Amino acid sequence: MKTRFAPSPTGRLHVGNIRTALHNCLLARKAGGQFLLRLDDTDVERSRPEFADAIRHDLDRLGLTPDASFCQSDRIVRYAEVFDALQRAGRVYACYETPEELELRRKVLLGRGLPPIYERPEGENAPVEGVAPHWRFRLDHAAPIEWEDAVRGPQRFEPANLSDPVIRRADGSWLYLLPSVIDDADHAISHVVRGEDHVTNSAIQLQMFDAIGADRPTLAHTALIVSEEGKLSKRAGAEGLAALDDRGFEPMALLSVLARIGTSQPVEPAPDIAALAAGFDLASFGRAPARFAWDEVAIVNARLLHATDYADVVDRLPAAIDAARWQVLRGNLERLDETAGWAAVFDGEIEAPEPSEEDRAYLAAAGAVAAGLEWDEEAWGKLTTALKARTGRKGKALFLPLRRALTGRSAGPEMAALLPLIDKRRALARLGS
Ligand code: GLU
Repeated sequence: MKTRFAPSPTGRLHVGNIRTALHNCLLARKAGGQFLLRLDDTDVERSRPEFADAIRHDLDRLGLTPDASFCQSDRIVRYAEVFDALQRAGRVYACYETPEELELRRKVLLGRGLPPIYERPEGENAPVEGVAPHWRFRLDHAAPIEWEDAVRGPQRFEPANLSDPVIRRADGSWLYLLPSVIDDADHAISHVVRGEDHVTNSAIQLQMFDAIGADRPTLAHTALIVSEEGKLSKRAGAEGLAALDDRGFEPMALLSVLARIGTSQPVEPAPDIAALAAGFDLASFGRAPARFAWDEVAIVNARLLHATDYADVVDRLPAAIDAARWQVLRGNLERLDETAGWAAVFDGEIEAPEPSEEDRAYLAAAGAVAAGLEWDEEAWGKLTTALKARTGRKGKALFLPLRRALTGRSAGPEMAALLPLIDKRRALARLGS
């Protein structure tokens, strides 16, 4: 099992291609295979080294570190070698049309109700004085293209219905199709998982694998990702780790969602990549679009935190949050950065809402009772039992003024667990004693 993720370094990673990286990584990890990163940087105009660095960095942060990586720009000698061989075999031919001529032909064909397929010449195109040619791959019209897609099932394309693709520009630079095939073949990639927008590319690329005498990889084309409202909006589609950080979510919350949307398996919070890999199964993917929503990431994020062990999070916690405090807090958290506010509840200053006249007297009574208590797990029970007997208060009137005064908040973990973790003198001061 050898997979690869092949982004173009023309921007940061976004939710859509993080999902593709994840699929390929999980497939490799589950089988104990290899996961490669290939940077498709043949488009010199748009590719930037800083984007390549950002992609590597983001993959590391997500725990999707590849086992090896390379750039297509380092491989152009190899591409030229294969190109020459294909040319000698008659599978590559020169073309001299300008973009304007091609566009005109397209319009004419469409106007006649015909598919706008490139009209290949009988033999070779006649050279045009002073024009450097670009190059197309000659599809084999006699060989229907068929494969068993690991997500979409049996696929069949009639090559005569496809245009011979341009593979090299007049300036010698490469388009995506052929270099990708050469790389996949040379690296013995066994499985290619990518979005269904690549299905037609795959049909063409399978003929290229055959033409260069390479084994075909297993192909899996996943349904595209959409937001709850339908199409993944331009903004949401472009959102990546910065959006995750803005929301204060854990990378594993995003990955837990991305690994399961579009499949028949439920979204479950997974603590790490290994846990996600264990359940990963291409057979569970469906053809319907994969629905993505940050709201679902939020829910998974909270569930993840509720089950996170202190040891796994200690280096990201404020110093005030020790193991006992974490244990009490975690079940109430939606985001890890809420622990900063809780650190102040334990060991700092809080801003409690101003109590009413009546509650002020009540809190003073509470302070007097609390002062005489042993500060242990039973302190809260003893305090409230005594206050109930003394004041006749019950329910909310009994508990809420205490919670507000002691924590500055109206909600949070059980007070019985919380109270002994707040320093007694600090608690008494908050009660006004
Ligand atoms: N660079 C291509 C893309 O990002 C790679 C597609 C592929 O072969 O996986 O769409």
